Amino acid sequence: MNAELVYAVPLRTRFRGITVREGVLLRGQAGWGEFCPFADYTDAECVPWLASALEACEQGWPAPVRDTVEVNATVPVVTPEQAHAMVSASGCRTAKVKVADPRSSLVDDCDRVSAVRDALGASGAVRVDANGAWDTETAIGAITELDRAAGGLEYVEQPCRSIEELAAVRRKVEVRIAADESIRKAEDPLRVAVAEAADVAVLKVAPLGGVRRALDVAEACGLPCVVSSALESSVGIAAELALAGALPSLDFACGLGTISLFTGDVASRSLSAVDGYLPVLSTAPEPDLIDKLEAEGDTRSWWLDRLARVRALVAA
Ligand SMILES: [Mg+2]
Repeated sequence: MNAELVYAVPLRTRFRGITVREGVLLRGQAGWGEFCPFADYTDAECVPWLASALEACEQGWPAPVRDTVEVNATVPVVTPEQAHAMVSASGCRTAKVKVADPRSSLVDDCDRVSAVRDALGASGAVRVDANGAWDTETAIGAITELDRAAGGLEYVEQPCRSIEELAAVRRKVEVRIAADESIRKAEDPLRVAVAEAADVAVLKVAPLGGVRRALDVAEACGLPCVVSSALESSVGIAAELALAGALPSLDFACGLGTISLFTGDVASRSLSAVDGYLPVLSTAPEPDLIDKLEAEGDTRSWWLDRLARVRALVAA
């Protein structure tokens, strides 16, 4: 196999505005790493993604303190019936529902959240993710409605864009606030905790620049952490699992069950959750599967050019 494999895997449902997930798998002396920043990221924003891929393939990860990680089901903008079926089929006890999407009204979001509660039963946990879409006033109203529809929300992820807005919302609602984009894009993740903007920090290895960097961020911010995927293939999910496995404490289910959103996977040991749990394991691409999922032509050259530019930035 090539040491740089470009893959393209269609998603089952449109997610984060994309229908096909693409990236590059890199082979090094420690194993395989994945470089898959979203297409709209600048080369400079791709630098931590490359650092994370290089850590995986050249260095490997710190030893884990647990060997399984509980994961949540992820519910995109689908009908309540589809949401119910997805959550029931997942075997997970926690579900994260995407809300505040332009294609979905608050009434739709409440209906979907309520269907998810129905699927999980009273003992399950329902969380929602607004991806920073609301202003503070809208967030306070929407969170109140969604909390009611859910029969209690575990937390709301990134209701507004800025740290100041998160802090303002947090003072007004009972529901826990989780910071995702605020941690990832912050120059100083500590500021989120200092500003009392969040109760939970969502960490993603790839945009934070690797497992070791993410562990440092977890320690610096001092909040309970949830590890969430950046919609990687199993090769990249393994890095996210390495973080979830190495965090000193892990109080919430992690957003790492995202392989089920894909129509295929590059690895024979696919890191798709069973009964709501994933093992803390690494994996490698499988030649037979790669034959089917390897991207060619313009897609391949676009990714290899991008990788070369980001490598040059790192070397500079
Ligand atoms: Mg999020």
